[in-house]
Amino acid sequence: AKSSGRNTYMFYRQEMNAHAFERLTLESELHRAIQQQEFVLYYQPKVCLQTGLILGVEALLRWRHPELGILLPEKFIPLLEDTGLIVPVGQWVIEQALADCNQWYEQGLEHIKMAVNLSPNQLKDVKFIEGLQNALAQHQLSTSCLELEITENTMMADGEKAFVLMQQLQQIGIKFSVDDFGTGYSSLAYLKRLPVETIKIDRSFIQDIGIEQEDEIIVKTVIAMAKSLGYRVVAEGVENLEQVNFLKSLNCDIAQGFLFSRPIPSAELVSHLQDLQHQ
Ligand code: C2E
Ligand code: CA
Ligand code: CA
Ligand code: CA
Repeated sequence: AKSSGRNTYMFYRQEMNAHAFERLTLESELHRAIQQQEFVLYYQPKVCLQTGLILGVEALLRWRHPELGILLPEKFIPLLEDTGLIVPVGQWVIEQALADCNQWYEQGLEHIKMAVNLSPNQLKDVKFIEGLQNALAQHQLSTSCLELEITENTMMADGEKAFVLMQQLQQIGIKFSVDDFGTGYSSLAYLKRLPVETIKIDRSFIQDIGIEQEDEIIVKTVIAMAKSLGYRVVAEGVENLEQVNFLKSLNCDIAQGFLFSRPIPSAELVSHLQDLQHQ
């Protein structure tokens, strides 16, 4: 038993080295990715449940890796967070999203609102507002075209600091959505203190509509309470019509999910929106 224990130990040590090595490689690759501009944004439409119209999009980060192809955020965002690189990359996300938004507007797609995800580190950055305002000015866009998505835990992480920055952002006209609602530790009562306009119900509750009665009850209750407190409600990860019908019956405002569209590159989004306009 002892010798097998030792083998196990060696096995783990090798695994750990491999893991550490992978991480080191990934980290140096991230620096290259920033320099070589290997990041791209994809956009996923948000659809009004009453009218079926696309009201806006969420920008989602992708890494176009030269050997591995398109990488999803789960592969690299944790490391961006750990290394603090999420701050410059997050600034790039805002600049790129606004540059794309500006192009859409020039092509007559003026009603499309842009939503960008924010990480906790960005909300601690004293230069954040300045960077945001510069990006807006550069593209001659008003704050009303932009919405910031933050999770409950991000809002609460740095308590007062995040709160103050959110209030400053609200004062210049920025709107906030609470992302992944239901998975964190906040409550709707707590959120009332914050300048939040929209609640995004996490996909994990939506995916079991029609399957788990508990999830249906949670969705129903959250929508009813959020709406009566004056929030706009978005359902994340909508994949089928049963979910749509259920959400519609509860007066949920907006849906987002693969049923309507996967996240797609800007050019694809533009041609999709133009097709819809000409229908
Ligand atoms: P999120 O903000 O909750 O974004 C929604 C995620 O759900 C996206 O994953 C999207 O592709 C996926 N999704 C949308 N509809 C469906 C559906 O119907 N079914 C399923 N199974 N999934 C759906 P993605 O693009 O992999 O992003 C994952 C997370 O990475 C995001 O979750 C967000 O937390 C983070 N992220 C993405 N882009 C950025 C960014 O620019 N900055 C920061 N800080 N985080 C980002
Ligand atoms: Ca989001
Ligand atoms: Ca989300
Ligand atoms: Ca999520």
